[in-house]
Amino acid sequence: MRKSLVAGNWKMNKTIAETRDLIFKMIAPLREITGVEQVICPPFMSLMAASALLEGSGIGLGAQNMHWEEKGAFTGETSPMMVKELCGYVILGHSERRAYFNETDQVVNRKVLSAQAAGLTAIVCVGETLEQYESKLTMDVVSSQTSNSLKGVSAEYAPRLIVAYEPVWAIGTGKASNGTEANAVVKEVIRPALAKLFGEETAQAVRVLYGGSVTAANAAEFFNQPEIDGALVGGASMKVEEFVAIAKAAAN
Ligand code: PEP
Repeated sequence: MRKSLVAGNWKMNKTIAETRDLIFKMIAPLREITGVEQVICPPFMSLMAASALLEGSGIGLGAQNMHWEEKGAFTGETSPMMVKELCGYVILGHSERRAYFNETDQVVNRKVLSAQAAGLTAIVCVGETLEQYESKLTMDVVSSQTSNSLKGVSAEYAPRLIVAYEPVWAIGTGKASNGTEANAVVKEVIRPALAKLFGEETAQAVRVLYGGSVTAANAAEFFNQPEIDGALVGGASMKVEEFVAIAKAAAN
């Protein structure tokens, strides 16, 4: 049985004061929900404040990115061990990183291997662009992104891994995919790619999330799918009632 997980990606939103305020408002209702792993990923600047507030709550904390190197002359970057001091999770290969910061599968792969070495749970994002979707390339693109991003990951670490299937055309657009289509991508290409890397049994243990315009209104449609184990949520994760309702839907 794979435990459901919902993760909120706040992207480049919320100052430290706003982070404190938002966590203060969501922590009590989120703590009441059992049976679902919950993770909040605020911006780097807010991680320290968030970590203090979340301590002992059972709610996980994640970074939205990191560098793969341990340390050194990489101005503006954050190392895996710096992330590990405050977080248990790290989002890697988000489509915004791939599109605006030129992150290739090879770059994502180096980061995933560093997350493994640091003992962080990587939430690895894959997903096709609108152009690729319209050209019916979804299966090919997602399959190769999954295999290439996870190359060299050990079968021991794999059950800790989280893959987020996020069609790029659904992110922040209000146009979510639908449960059947998203489930098919996970079943037909993501799990087979995981099975090739780690073996069938381990592939079944890896949690796969859906992401892309998830709201309280459509969450259950995705969570009812057998291959989808939760959601990576952007916009709706910064609205207390929405995120709490999504976490509740995942717990059911
Ligand atoms: C995301 O940022 O990963 C995301 C899925 O965003 P949204 O929920 O806003 O589409």
